[in-house]
Amino acid sequence: MKTPRGFTYAGINCGIKAARKDLALVFSEAPCAAAGCFTVNAARAAPVRDAAARVPSTGLRAIVANSGSANSLVGPRGQADVLAIRAAVGAALGVDANAVLCASTGVIGVPLPAQRLIAAVPLLASTRGPAIEHAAEAVMTTDTRVKLAGRTLRVGTAEVTFAAFGKGSGMLAPELATLLAFITTDLAIAPAALQSALSRATRASFDMLNIDGAMSTNDAVLALANGLAKNTQVEEGTAEHALVGDALEELCVDLARQVAEDGEGATKAVEVRVHGAPDVEAARDLARSVAGSNLVKASIFGADPNWGRVIAALGARIGSRRWPIDPLRATVALQGVCVYTDGCPVDYDAPALRAKMRQPSVVVDVQLAEGSAGAIAWGCDLSYDYVKINADYTSLTHATVDGTVARDDRLTNYTPGFKRALLVEALSYIAKFSNKRAVVKYGGAAMVKDSLKAAFANDINLLRTAGLLPVVVHGGGPEISHTMDKLGHDKSAFVDGLRATDREDVKVVEMVLTGKINTELVSLLNQSSAHAVGVSGKDAGLLRVRRLMGEGGRDLGMVGEVIHVNHELLEVLLEKKYVPVVSPVGLGEDGEGYNINADQAASEIAIAIKAEKLIYLTDVPGILERGELITDISTSELRRKIDDGTIKGGMVIKAQSVLRAIEGGVASVHILDGRATHSVIAELFTDRGVGTLVRRD
Ligand code: ADP
Ligand code: MG
Repeated sequence: MKTPRGFTYAGINCGIKAARKDLALVFSEAPCAAAGCFTVNAARAAPVRDAAARVPSTGLRAIVANSGSANSLVGPRGQADVLAIRAAVGAALGVDANAVLCASTGVIGVPLPAQRLIAAVPLLASTRGPAIEHAAEAVMTTDTRVKLAGRTLRVGTAEVTFAAFGKGSGMLAPELATLLAFITTDLAIAPAALQSALSRATRASFDMLNIDGAMSTNDAVLALANGLAKNTQVEEGTAEHALVGDALEELCVDLARQVAEDGEGATKAVEVRVHGAPDVEAARDLARSVAGSNLVKASIFGADPNWGRVIAALGARIGSRRWPIDPLRATVALQGVCVYTDGCPVDYDAPALRAKMRQPSVVVDVQLAEGSAGAIAWGCDLSYDYVKINADYTSLTHATVDGTVARDDRLTNYTPGFKRALLVEALSYIAKFSNKRAVVKYGGAAMVKDSLKAAFANDINLLRTAGLLPVVVHGGGPEISHTMDKLGHDKSAFVDGLRATDREDVKVVEMVLTGKINTELVSLLNQSSAHAVGVSGKDAGLLRVRRLMGEGGRDLGMVGEVIHVNHELLEVLLEKKYVPVVSPVGLGEDGEGYNINADQAASEIAIAIKAEKLIYLTDVPGILERGELITDISTSELRRKIDDGTIKGGMVIKAQSVLRAIEGGVASVHILDGRATHSVIAELFTDRGVGTLVRRD
């Protein structure tokens, strides 16, 4: 990410957490104007008290932030630790201790292992560089991904850059996952002007975020502006100030949305828009109330268009504030579908709306009939995992003697009945699968999210340990399109899940599939064991293809269909218990590389190696009919659903590949949601699987 002039960043592990990064640094080579917004929680943490008293101001040079321990509610030593850290960071960077701001996030009520942190400061200072990502990683707690945002804009004749990182995923003690955001810019701006722009941006963004209604003791948003862009200093009340305010607001909304998407246990981001309110305060308050309603959140988790809960949440808040607003005159729309208006429910297509509500982002629109003020709030759904994360942390997170934080999630902590059931069920499957072969097609959304990639790699390794012999075939759709775009290739046309590809395109396809996705996946799998082997369909002539004609003889270019699988290489690898990871590139009769559909490659490989199971991981829960999951389907029914158009788009070729695999002797084929963690394990090692199972007639 592009970063502003004169800023460097660092992120390391200083030993608060066992292995993950836990200490971040932001440093400016020139003195900065600084501003900050802080939690209004009256029980503020020491670093918040310290920083809040020292901004807005000039002459600031650095921010040091740690995760793992919040330095909150620990008595006078909290402030003493802040001072010691500021002194250490100042000394390491050659700046005054007063030029350093601190922030902390993590468990509250536990003293910070300050000596450990201070001992790591020289290393932290020496690893500074232009990459902001390490710092972003070091502030994560229950966050599952880093949160970054950037903007460039023109101020006068100067080009000004903003780069920001943040964290936050829930706010419930004691696994307190505070919201922190740090904004760096090379803009020249007066401290008071920076403060007012930041306050405005925070009001429209982080203040409108409601993950779980719990307010943290450590929330802090800090901005440093070093002036190296050399624009005329921005002052309050000018056109430039408004422009900068807009940019900051956009940046903060961007980060706030990322926090909402990554809420603890969240499966969906929620956006609540309230319009037609008598004033902005009421609009903001109501938007936040709806976004924070547990019942609304739970129904969104279940993709249930329960609009009654939206109106109940509105009515409750309006009533308790004694506002003269009539909630019954509101119009409510979910995902753009009107469900309530003029005091009456509206008829809508329930299965279609339920399907829309399964999307990763759900929008609730409330139009009041009282005025013209509006506001938007962000949040997330309430899933089983939220309770699990926070319930577990209450009993299973413990501070060790040296101040580090450890998590005790051994199976022993669960109820005896649950443990017995789990082990008995799993062990019976393990015995059943020993030495059986399974092909897993890895595609869709599961390939995009880092946490899901890690869970997938983990699952494959577990399966191998349990005696199953997995073969992984990966796709690459989104990544290929993205690279094509970047290289300025024409957007390839998709025809029934097949991509029309010319000679130049096929080189990009190979580069991305074999050169990037395959090697990344192999590295990930080999992080915990060393058994994955990357194989291209060209290697040892694994996938022989012939040129495929499109519908009605349409030329698709270098697109092939698999006509022969030379499975010898796979046999050798499986014999030695290696996990082959196949990049779906085919070798043509003309010796050229061909683009092939990964779904088809997976089914042909499954047939050739006589796999017991074939599993497709994709970006939907399975085969859907009018938005509902079909858990079990026969081959003839599946054929009918292709013919009658229930199955469309990318699912057509998947379904055809499923049929072909079953014809070819594969005993069971599953289509699963790759967006759910550990879905492969859940399918294989439990009685009631997940997703769609296709059976022979
Ligand atoms: P992958 O990357 O897993 O190959 P595709 O986009 O090629 O994903 O195929 C899955 C897509 O097929 C789904 O995201 C969905 O949009 C589409 N699809 C069409 N009809 C159905 C259906 N009846 N059930 C499920 N998905 C369907
Ligand atoms: Mg596909």
